[in-house]
Amino acid sequence: MPNKHSKAQHMPQRTCAICKSKKDLDELYAFIIMPEGIIIDPKRRLQRRRHYICKNINCLSNLEDWEKRYFKKHFGIKKDWSELDLQSKNSVQGVNNGQ
Ligand SMILES: [Zn+2]
Repeated sequence: MPNKHSKAQHMPQRTCAICKSKKDLDELYAFIIMPEGIIIDPKRRLQRRRHYICKNINCLSNLEDWEKRYFKKHFGIKKDWSELDLQSKNSVQGVNNGQ
């Protein structure tokens, strides 16, 4: 990927992994897929391949399904999601309290 060092007057855009719409980085959370599950990395500190998701409840509530599909596809495994569930929900909370 080209990495232009243009001034930050225009936000770079990324595609939401869930709804596939392009948005400013501002409007997206970065997250990382770890073998243990998804980690939301708002400060983008972790040096891993990042995915992005809209900061809205529609996309966030679909993250779990997306994650399952992702894991099945890339790792061919099914996990017990109940524990991971808790984790990712916790990091997502504060954005939106369910519905
Ligand atoms: Zn989205």
